[in-house]
Amino acid sequence: MALTTFTISDVRIFTGKEAIDVGYVTVKNGTISDVSSGSPPPESPGSVLSRPGHTVIPGLIDAHMHAQGNDLALTQSLQFGVTTVQDMHNETANVHKMKKIAAAKKDEASDFRAAGVAATIEGGWPMAVVLAIDKSEQTAADVATWPKLKSPAEAEAYVAFNLSPAGGADFIKLMHESGSAVGQSMSKPSLDIQKALIKATHEAGRIAVAHCFGRADTLEMLSLGIDGLAHTFMDEPVTEEIINEYKKSGAWCNPTLALLGSFTTEGEALANRFANDERVKGKLAATDHATMCRCMSFATADATVRYAYETVRRLKAEGVPIIVGSDAVGPGLGTAYGATVHQEMYLLVKECGFSPQDAIRSATTLTAKVFGLKDRGEVARGLKGDLVLVEGNPVDDIEATLNIKSVWRDGILAKGF
Ligand SMILES: [Zn+2]
Repeated sequence: MALTTFTISDVRIFTGKEAIDVGYVTVKNGTISDVSSGSPPPESPGSVLSRPGHTVIPGLIDAHMHAQGNDLALTQSLQFGVTTVQDMHNETANVHKMKKIAAAKKDEASDFRAAGVAATIEGGWPMAVVLAIDKSEQTAADVATWPKLKSPAEAEAYVAFNLSPAGGADFIKLMHESGSAVGQSMSKPSLDIQKALIKATHEAGRIAVAHCFGRADTLEMLSLGIDGLAHTFMDEPVTEEIINEYKKSGAWCNPTLALLGSFTTEGEALANRFANDERVKGKLAATDHATMCRCMSFATADATVRYAYETVRRLKAEGVPIIVGSDAVGPGLGTAYGATVHQEMYLLVKECGFSPQDAIRSATTLTAKVFGLKDRGEVARGLKGDLVLVEGNPVDDIEATLNIKSVWRDGILAKGF
């Protein structure tokens, strides 16, 4: 699988920072070697693809998904222009399996980064819910491999293992869920355990991300210095205290609006519209089409995705980084690998006051920045040749991100394009 060298010319470029009305991008041996307005110099290497009426954007990053052991998680994501995915909790064996696929099949699979297995406790999120929904022997065996942290000392040992080559993690995921938004009472790790996890993660120079669906749980995580939230909350409206804690801590938020809409069922119509859009349906596995059209319906009657929209709107206005993650998981209802990233960008524009450019930034440059990924997320010289070519102008119309004509990962054209 040779690396390719080529130039895309006569094209609009949204670099992730700025829009270039007519310009060119050159990729040399898998790395972007030139980006500029105007016409490519005659000495540009490789073949020239002239694409007037099209736009090049950076390869999208899905900041939050769960691949399980499913190849489709990476192959379907790449077809939707998602060149990097971040798994936010998976069994260690699956993490190694998916990393191997991502490294070996650059023309078929997204790059894969992972939290490894999350910092779980006995009976806590998501153990209690997974075991209640899925009674299979395989799931019971998988869950048996998850951590059951009991003390801060165990938390430190967990971080050390998870970030080691044997653990396979790139960052650390905390589970801080009291169940308030889903009408359940769940045990969550003590604040001493969470504090020890964050401290050990930071000492290792890595990033700690927390799951919370509730406002009170979110406040606790912000007060402990978490780097980012893997959801926003849906049980209560935003408060000044939340805004201030986000700003004080410098944390970012990955709201997972499509998922929350599935939890409350308010997102059902939109998920159906996306799933049945020909540009989506043609790329979805039949199983994913069916699951995307249905809802989790797993929130309390008081919870609403409207609270989430308003929180994101306020956080954005206050300069808190908002990043895009689908939270897609194989059998999970209301989401689908790759497709939900586009739905999430649409929701940021439609419901949260984002410009299309800001929504694309939230799925590219901003995600790369908050996760310290210096080699991707932008169409810029020296970065990976992770590019998406779409017909039309997503700078004006966010739904144009679905008009995907080509996807390159490390300069390698994805199969099927
Ligand atoms: Zn998740």
